[in-house]
Amino acid sequence: MAELLRRKGVVDEEFLQGLVDTVYGTCTMCQRCTMFCPYGISIAFIVRATRSLAVSQGLTPPGLASGLANALEYGNNLGISEEDYRETVEWQLEELQAEMPDAVAPMDKKGAEVLVTFHPRDIKFYPQNLYGYLKLYNAAGLDFTLTSSKGWDSTNIGLFAGDDPAATELCGRVVAAGENLGVRTLLSAE
Ligand code: SF4
Repeated sequence: MAELLRRKGVVDEEFLQGLVDTVYGTCTMCQRCTMFCPYGISIAFIVRATRSLAVSQGLTPPGLASGLANALEYGNNLGISEEDYRETVEWQLEELQAEMPDAVAPMDKKGAEVLVTFHPRDIKFYPQNLYGYLKLYNAAGLDFTLTSSKGWDSTNIGLFAGDDPAATELCGRVVAAGENLGVRTLLSAE
């Protein structure tokens, strides 16, 4: 980023590609270094700002770009259809009810206390995790609901990619889902 400033933004494609490789490939923006930096330099902030710059130049890495396109179209970054989502929830609830006969997994329950959201990989690849979450919520007696709207994905791949408008849109969907259902609390899986 300093080099970019030094050159006043006059850089070639090779430089930009190196920048992209660095900001997407070497830092997860966890901010751990910021917590310990004696000068208070936020590497994560610099990386995040540079990712936005990359997005503005159409340089979002393909893997992230396709996940983001999925999120915007389907409401989750793995492109899971509403039908598959519902089927997975019903399947895991059925399994759970063999162990906890009274277990529930309310979908779009108005006025519930908590809206629970998920990482899409827990729906698509690790449904046993969904089983675990439902078991925990039921055992805790939580007044919860899931949503079938496009607001159930708790990840925000737009934020991670550095695409601010997309991040705002995805965040807004989760907030809208919670507001539509009148919940008091949003439980985010990530
Ligand atoms: S924020 Fe700092 S500690 Fe975290 S991955 Fe990036 S460079 Fe490493």
